[in-house]
Amino acid sequence: MHPSQEQQRLLTQIPGVDRLLDAAADRPFAAGVPQTILVRCIRALEEELRSAILSKDSSAAQKAPSVEALLEKLAPMVQKAAAPKLQRTINATGVVIHTNLGRSLLADAAIENLVRISSRYSNLEYDLEAGRRGSRYSAVEEILCEITGAESAMVVNNNAGAVLLALETLAAGRSAVVSRGELVEIGGAFRIPDVMAKSGAILKEVGTTNRTHLRDYEAAIDEETGLLLKVHKSNYSIVGFTAEVSLSELVSLGNRHGIPVMEDLGSGMFIDFSRYGLPKEPTVQEAVATGADVVTFSGDKLLGGPQAGILVGKKGCLDRIKKNPITRALRIDKMTLAALESTMRLYREERAAVVQIPTLRMILMPLDTVAGLAERLRTELDKIGDDRLQARLLDRFSRAGGGSLPLLQLPTRCVGVRISGMSAARLETAMRDYCPPIIGRIEEDLFLMDPRTLQEEEIEMIASAFQFVLEKAAS
Ligand SMILES: *Cc1c(COP(=O)(O)O)cnc(C)c1O
Repeated sequence: MHPSQEQQRLLTQIPGVDRLLDAAADRPFAAGVPQTILVRCIRALEEELRSAILSKDSSAAQKAPSVEALLEKLAPMVQKAAAPKLQRTINATGVVIHTNLGRSLLADAAIENLVRISSRYSNLEYDLEAGRRGSRYSAVEEILCEITGAESAMVVNNNAGAVLLALETLAAGRSAVVSRGELVEIGGAFRIPDVMAKSGAILKEVGTTNRTHLRDYEAAIDEETGLLLKVHKSNYSIVGFTAEVSLSELVSLGNRHGIPVMEDLGSGMFIDFSRYGLPKEPTVQEAVATGADVVTFSGDKLLGGPQAGILVGKKGCLDRIKKNPITRALRIDKMTLAALESTMRLYREERAAVVQIPTLRMILMPLDTVAGLAERLRTELDKIGDDRLQARLLDRFSRAGGGSLPLLQLPTRCVGVRISGMSAARLETAMRDYCPPIIGRIEEDLFLMDPRTLQEEEIEMIASAFQFVLEKAAS
């Protein structure tokens, strides 16, 4: 359909890109914003105007918008387009290892080392004693062996990569025996059967979903068997009429047949949580001491370090893994290495680790401490002195997250907020829109925040966010 005369008249009245660009130049919202972004936003705005004019009933009288009105529309568009996409976010969910919000926070020592190493040259692959090329992994190998008691260690980009690499090295073209109760899927489409297929290992499932016995593994072993694999049920639990084969039973079976045994621990822990009143989880040290040939785990789940996949175990298997050309495709960079070495060093002193590694500190935070933070947050909110805002304290549970300790419920105290005249859903959106975004959850008609995962300075930032939202709602 052709535009009517009236529509054509309106179209010609839209100011040109250059005119708007000129008009925007001295506005605060355009300060420091690259011209390309301004032009892109102006074009998008003008496109919107054109479609609006063309879609309206041509007989209806319309007025072309003024430059001033257009600049007002442009400002939020430019602000949004110019802002970095990866943003610091406030985690008020109480989920400590929140996969969507960046998993583990690094310890201060790790951050300092990361900055030091990545802003200067380093001996990343240089042997300072010999004065020639060295190994990238030497910085962490020794300390990983020291902490876990393993003969050898290796680090790749993430645990998914570690599992793929180990399967490819030890079982490509051969079978890997796994219990049907351990064929896990974790978030982000990591599924043991799929990784297995990509590695070239042939999956040999044994047992049933709820019960697998040693004789099931035994019956599956033949000359094609390359590996016995155990996968830790990190993000689910099988309860009721169940049976599973322990790692030590698998290790003796493997030894009898000369077949390596691998355990994918998923999260991986160096600290025995049962000493802190939490349920017992297998530690890496225990898996190593049991005699597993390879143990794989993540660097950024319960370990609280950078994203990485760590492999520890017997020298023979690890040597084969290190020689696999895939390692080059999965190798970690110097930032990971720097953060990982510093995090590992903290584990030399368990008392230091549980205080200085944020993931551990937050999981082990006593209820009294969380309650104190909740009280502080409520006090800050009360100080705003706006009758429309009501804040209440509620006893709830926090979670470890990251597919770790799925049944663990950590008693916590949340702050629930309601603003009269605003639904909880709208409040949640407003908090998510704030800079920095504040992520909480809705429960009935309250916006709920769990202080367990808040950092020191964030309580005041949250109070400012509520003040901002209240002011905006009033205007
Ligand atoms: C989390 C997890 C993985 C994947 O680890 P990433 O570090 O996220 O790659 C693999 N296996 C298990 C059992 C896990 O829990």
